[in-house]
Amino acid sequence: MKPYFCMGIESTAHTFGASVASSDGKILSNVKKVFTTESGGMIPGEVAEHHVQVCGDILQKALDDAKVSIKDIKLVAYSQSPGLGHCLRVGAMCARAIAAINNIEIIGVNHCIAHLEIGRLVTKAKDPVLLYASGANTQIIAFEGGRYRIFGETLDIGIGNFIDTFARHMGLGFPGGPKIYELALKGKNFIQLPYTVKGMDVSFSGILTNLKDKFNSGKYSREDLAFSLQETAFAMLLEVSERAMAHCGKKELLLGGGVAANKRLQEMAKIMCEERGAEMFVPEMQFLTDNAAMIAWQGILEYNSGKRMKVEKAGINPYLRTDEIEVTWR
Ligand code: AMP
Ligand code: MG
Repeated sequence: MKPYFCMGIESTAHTFGASVASSDGKILSNVKKVFTTESGGMIPGEVAEHHVQVCGDILQKALDDAKVSIKDIKLVAYSQSPGLGHCLRVGAMCARAIAAINNIEIIGVNHCIAHLEIGRLVTKAKDPVLLYASGANTQIIAFEGGRYRIFGETLDIGIGNFIDTFARHMGLGFPGGPKIYELALKGKNFIQLPYTVKGMDVSFSGILTNLKDKFNSGKYSREDLAFSLQETAFAMLLEVSERAMAHCGKKELLLGGGVAANKRLQEMAKIMCEERGAEMFVPEMQFLTDNAAMIAWQGILEYNSGKRMKVEKAGINPYLRTDEIEVTWR
């Protein structure tokens, strides 16, 4: 079959992205705009409004960068689940309009699975356990028994939100991840923090309260707190990842999500993998954080495996779980 072009659209949360990929696995463009705030969190209606404002330019730029005309696009893929309803709706609307006007195929995909599949495309990982560590999401996902299953996850807040919230509490701006990393490099003393692994799940809200109290007491340096935060929270994530690898008999760990850009997390993951004779893979930054290239590629995988969707059925599903997706492409 001659390669065809797929346009991908990402809009689960803060990022509105568009990408053109070819069905033989080439990412021809990957454009995004990220909603940010000076203070406070994300209000879904405001983020959706941001996406509405930028969507036209981003979609056009994705075509321009790829040097592909809309007439050459055969398939449009969008993130259908999970995410903020307001935001998902904008991406789905764009996809439906493009599909209807140009009479092209449409497919809605799962965002978490797309993180794993883009990792398989751009690294050499074949059958990895994914440690998906982003702002809102923290999950350990692997392909087992014909489905992508969640082996462990956060019981409350995502690792990224946890780190960013503590950074904000210390008066550092957003995003806090890179700033905490820089501070942690200068930390010298490990401070005991709650280590919260419950079965295969993790929890961060108790550690956050504990860290805030310690900071407020004035007895500890920011550097030592940042250092101890990283050592504790990353050890928790890797303990659960390692157990998932042992349980599934898998020899590869793939990192995904913005927090995976943290070099200390990468270093700790590498040590864990080396100790068990496994390999660790980290995609480049543009494919780690939320991006539309992964949505385009996921659309291609599903379309090639025979999945089809009618435009009028192309809705959103904010709460769909990863293991509810029927996997037809593996
Ligand atoms: P995501 O939701 O996947 O976009 O990830 C967002 C999270 O990644 C936020 O908590 C950021 O603080 C964190 N982050 C982004 N870039 C970096 C970096 N270079 N080092 C550490 N953390 C980062
Ligand atoms: Mg994500």
